[in-house]
Amino acid sequence: MTDTALLGDDTPWDIYGDKLREECGVFGVINAADAAAICALGLHALQHRGQEAAGITSYDGQEFYSRRGIGHVAENFASGEQLAELPGHMAAGHVRYSTTGGAGLRNIQPLYADLASGGFAIAHNGNISNAAHLRDELVRKGAIFHSTSDTETVIHLVATSRYPTLLDRFVDALRMLEGAYSFVVMTKEGMIACRDPLGIRPLVMGKIGDAIVFASETVALDVVGAEFMRQVDPGELIQVDFSGKISTHRPFGNPSARPCIFEHVYFSRPDSIFDNRSVYSVRKEIGVQLALESPTDADLVVAVPDSGVPAAIGYSQESGIPFEMGIIRSHYVGRTFIQPSDSARHSGVKRKHNANRMIVEGKRIVLIDDSIVRGTTSLQIVQMMRDAGAKEVHFRVASPPTGHGCFYGVDTPERSKLLAGRMDLAAMCDFIQADSLAFISIDGLYRAVGHSQRDNDCPQYCDACFTGDYPTSLTDLAKREEASAQLSFPVNKVA
Ligand code: SF4
Repeated sequence: MTDTALLGDDTPWDIYGDKLREECGVFGVINAADAAAICALGLHALQHRGQEAAGITSYDGQEFYSRRGIGHVAENFASGEQLAELPGHMAAGHVRYSTTGGAGLRNIQPLYADLASGGFAIAHNGNISNAAHLRDELVRKGAIFHSTSDTETVIHLVATSRYPTLLDRFVDALRMLEGAYSFVVMTKEGMIACRDPLGIRPLVMGKIGDAIVFASETVALDVVGAEFMRQVDPGELIQVDFSGKISTHRPFGNPSARPCIFEHVYFSRPDSIFDNRSVYSVRKEIGVQLALESPTDADLVVAVPDSGVPAAIGYSQESGIPFEMGIIRSHYVGRTFIQPSDSARHSGVKRKHNANRMIVEGKRIVLIDDSIVRGTTSLQIVQMMRDAGAKEVHFRVASPPTGHGCFYGVDTPERSKLLAGRMDLAAMCDFIQADSLAFISIDGLYRAVGHSQRDNDCPQYCDACFTGDYPTSLTDLAKREEASAQLSFPVNKVA
């Protein structure tokens, strides 16, 4: 039986509500005849990074054009008429899952402003962890904000900087930011792409003929037919003008990178290359490490699809236990389907996942998932396996316990709602009603990404949601008594 008392009244029962959610994906292209169409295609490949809104801004050498809307990329940029609203040879786009700033239309990116130097459009993946503090200061000086997005802070900082060139003003603004950002910026001089000094969120660069492309993930380069050139380095700005000249700038020197290790675990598509490693290969290796660390006597390895599949294959190959599709995923489920009544709630997981009874009946199962957040879905999936006749269910998790919130652009429940934030291993196992439960260790995860172990003096990745070791200052959190796991400005519900 589900212990709803433990979950709290506001526990979401939508079937995707028990996953950490990446907030955004960005894409930019310059010097392409059909820039907006390429941008729409690239955003479509990044749809998994944000499903609630999408936007594209283009530039034709004279004017900036913008189209933004609630919903998927295909709903907003599918037709020739929609793309015809976005002429020009430069375009930048954004997909978002709303967290910081709410879901209002005015928060959909790219954000645009007319500055003294001309038009300025910006698309942002990440979260600025001192944005509220900066905003307070700017408002005190007379700034008038039009959105509740942390990204608008950057526009105001650029607008009020005293430096002579736009690039210098932008760098001046970046120096005031804390947190995570991968930006794609358009001005009348060209495109600027940059990553925060720790490179927490990803950004890569490619080319199609003379056109240069920037994207959150390499899968977007593949889909638009671009050749992968390299990742944008942590702390690097790359400027591309309309003559095709590319210049790079490193205003922060060469800081030690701390990219988000959860990109490997869950956020990035498995066919992407992140931090110069195949996401699929890393996930498989996580399964290998899990099998070495937490072996089990079992008949079958079963993945919670889709994200648990590579780790399950790795676990199976290392352990010699056969891998089978013991759970089948429906690909036709609406993302925000909320169960209408108590009696319907328990079918929520089944709308997305269903047990393959003929495979699991009478078997001892090793069940592999990428993570446990609140534990609600895990509990229901274990129950689903038992209902289908599994004799034993041994749960193995392809990430360490997620016990801390993320302040870098990932939607995380507050710590008190994270299963690992309030329970030890035995209690978590009881909660999800598995026969056994094991998570990969933090060093096991680091081995899977190619290191012998975590360097505790100078960690190679951001892993704060597992360790609580945040790589940047968290000014807003420190200043807000009521800070929750994800910092937000007051949500404006008017689109
Ligand atoms: S806290 Fe976790 S999800 Fe957030 S950036 Fe760090 S590793 Fe990624």
